[in-house]
Amino acid sequence: MIANIIVLSGFSVFIYMTAKKGLSDNLNTMLKIISMDVIPDFKEKKELHAKEVADELYDEFGIAPLYIKIVHYNKKTNKIDKESVSSLKHAELFDIPLNEMGHLRSIYYFDKESYRVSSMLLFDEDDTKIFFQLAMEKSTNSPYLKGLLISLAIANPVILIIFLFIANTLINRTLQPVKDVIRSVNSISANNLCKRIDAKKIPTEINELVETFNRLLDNLEESFKRISSFSSDASHELKTPLTVIRGEVEVCLRQERSPQEYKNVLEDVLVETIRVQETIDQLFLLTKKDTAELSKNFTELYLDELIPDIVSQINRFASRRSVHVNIKNIIPSTIYANETLLRIAIENILRNSVIYSAHGAEVEIGMSDSDNKYLLIIEDHGCGIAKEDLPFVFDRFYRADKARSRKASESGTGLGLAIVKMILDIHHYDIEIQSTFGIGTKVLIKIPKIDEQKLIINS
Ligand code: ATP
Ligand code: MG
Repeated sequence: MIANIIVLSGFSVFIYMTAKKGLSDNLNTMLKIISMDVIPDFKEKKELHAKEVADELYDEFGIAPLYIKIVHYNKKTNKIDKESVSSLKHAELFDIPLNEMGHLRSIYYFDKESYRVSSMLLFDEDDTKIFFQLAMEKSTNSPYLKGLLISLAIANPVILIIFLFIANTLINRTLQPVKDVIRSVNSISANNLCKRIDAKKIPTEINELVETFNRLLDNLEESFKRISSFSSDASHELKTPLTVIRGEVEVCLRQERSPQEYKNVLEDVLVETIRVQETIDQLFLLTKKDTAELSKNFTELYLDELIPDIVSQINRFASRRSVHVNIKNIIPSTIYANETLLRIAIENILRNSVIYSAHGAEVEIGMSDSDNKYLLIIEDHGCGIAKEDLPFVFDRFYRADKARSRKASESGTGLGLAIVKMILDIHHYDIEIQSTFGIGTKVLIKIPKIDEQKLIINS
């Protein structure tokens, strides 16, 4: 707006000054033409009075006011012999030097107040020089210039308003897609991060901006999913160890204990706490799907030693439900795995067997060996899984027959087997669930032997 006002004002001043200069040049020409025009009259009649000439010129040119002085200059005496003025009122206009040194028909111009006066040497005869002096009002007061000034004063604001209107319309039209994008972005929140800005209706100039926004939303959605899956996975996995710690401490505090008993409890609590810490670290990596970082934690493990450890841990939890996990047929087996994660997976499967079994039931965990694989088998005689639910049990938050599940475990979230699947996928272990509704469930994990496993992991 300011730039516009400056440009327009500058342009107007330029037009006005150019017109003024044009008129000024024009005035000089007029003075010269009029002065020349009287030469024939002088030739005809040497004794012309200024008033007479002024009237004649006014009739001829219609320009007023015109003031004239005619000077007869004596070359010998260097004095003015006689002079006549068209109007005494303006005699002071002709208080100008005579151009007696100039050549014939030379003309000089002088500015006097609002008049421009010219002095032309009309005739140079034996002993006399005749000067013709003419005064015309300067063009600054010309009606043309005044009209131009008024036109510019009116035109300027009108042009400005029209310009602003057009500019406003154009800017609004240009910015509309940007406003649409802003509206779309504003409508996206944590609850609908899957929404994207529709690039179809957006002009190509800002398509790149929209694509960048959509990419940013992709990244945000991905990060958001990771954070929320980490928090749900972590809280899922912390429930059991925290329940165990709490139970141990509560039982211990029920009566006075010997220092050795306190020491045992504290050691158990320490082991559980370290495990909680490791669980959080590994789940964090698992959520980031940082397989490179996860596989750094792959080590050679003795599965035949790991299983009894997990079973004794789970039995502390199972005993509250009067369920017992038995180990049968464990064979010496060295595998290549991330211990913390594998422990989480096996614990989850065992916990399900315990939860979905009736009080007093037995759960078995055992192994078998085939050519290049170990088979880890966890079998229970609980409620079993209906055929129609079986394909979905690995889905996050899927719980088969909600009423029954809730009765069996109030705190179930449907995350356990999804976490198991994620962990086994990272290990490239296969899992299979065989279940008969009302009879029981058998979970089989196929674990490659160490050499083959290392090959798979490193490829
Ligand atoms: P949580 O997140 O606490 O583990 P959850 O046990 O319901 O909850 P998952 O472990 O993923 O979730 O199991 C999914 C569903 O599969 C369970 O709701 C249950 O219906 C069924 N299920 C899993 N294991 C067994 C089992 N051994 N016996 C019977 N049903 C099972
Ligand atoms: Mg479960």
